[in-house]
Amino acid sequence: MIVRVLGSAAGGGVPQWNCACANCQAARTGRAPRRTQSSLAVSVDGIRWLLLNCSPDIAAQIEAFTPLHPPAPRGTPIAGMLFTDANVDHIGGLAVLRQRGGDRGFLIRSSAVIREIAAAQPSCAPFAAPPHRWLDTPLGELIPSAGGDDLAGGALIIRTIAVPGTTPGYDGRRRATGAVVAYEVAGRNTRKSLLFAPVFSAIDDALRTAIERASVAFLDGSFYGDDEMIAAHLLDKPARGLGHQPVGGSDGTMAQLRHVRTRLVFTHLNNSNPMLDSNSEAYAAVREFGAELAFDGMELTL
Ligand SMILES: [Zn+2]
Ligand SMILES: [Zn+2]
Repeated sequence: MIVRVLGSAAGGGVPQWNCACANCQAARTGRAPRRTQSSLAVSVDGIRWLLLNCSPDIAAQIEAFTPLHPPAPRGTPIAGMLFTDANVDHIGGLAVLRQRGGDRGFLIRSSAVIREIAAAQPSCAPFAAPPHRWLDTPLGELIPSAGGDDLAGGALIIRTIAVPGTTPGYDGRRRATGAVVAYEVAGRNTRKSLLFAPVFSAIDDALRTAIERASVAFLDGSFYGDDEMIAAHLLDKPARGLGHQPVGGSDGTMAQLRHVRTRLVFTHLNNSNPMLDSNSEAYAAVREFGAELAFDGMELTL
């Protein structure tokens, strides 16, 4: 299974258009890498691809990755998508992909809660009707993607795991099981698996078990400190108030996963995050912990 990081930033990207924080300025002036909004592409054969979230940056992300270029005068190697939640930076790419017509649509999978919220948005609604199919994935069960017409040609096995979190701000940040999920993706013929959990407000037993079971886990790296947005005068909200467990601190993700042996990669990095500065104490702490930061164009083979 090939795993390609299409984007590694939280909503807004790095730099964010209206932000002149130190990280955004470093990216703007070329002193740090630019990051588009987070998404992964996975494939078993390198021909048919599955997207894990579809950000508003999808057009540029497709252009930056040759295997996602159209193979015919009109066409796409993207077979389907999985959505972890209904936040705009994770589903907003559908508005960009609306030209897809003809008799072949996308196969989209998410929890029922995510589908109901997302499909009520005008830009997403067409994807819940033919030629597209938007199917609910039962929480916790393995979905063998069956048949040549299904996600990535039936070569992947997918498990959807409900994680602590809420519906998006535009939906009132309601607590609902399945409002935020993580995906475990494995190739049919390999024991290795990928966990994609770019958003969670806490690590419960189910998420912890999934992290331990995975070969590689992409985890919510939005914020390092709970109050970093407030301290930098960017937004008057703590990380946890935005549905993200911080990476650092005595009760953060690193402290909770100290004895886990899985390869851990932080993604969905917010531009306020001090981890983005390779000279920072936060970055040094992440490296000492043994985790990595995702970057646009990062590629793994499992
Ligand atoms: Zn996001
Ligand atoms: Zn910024």
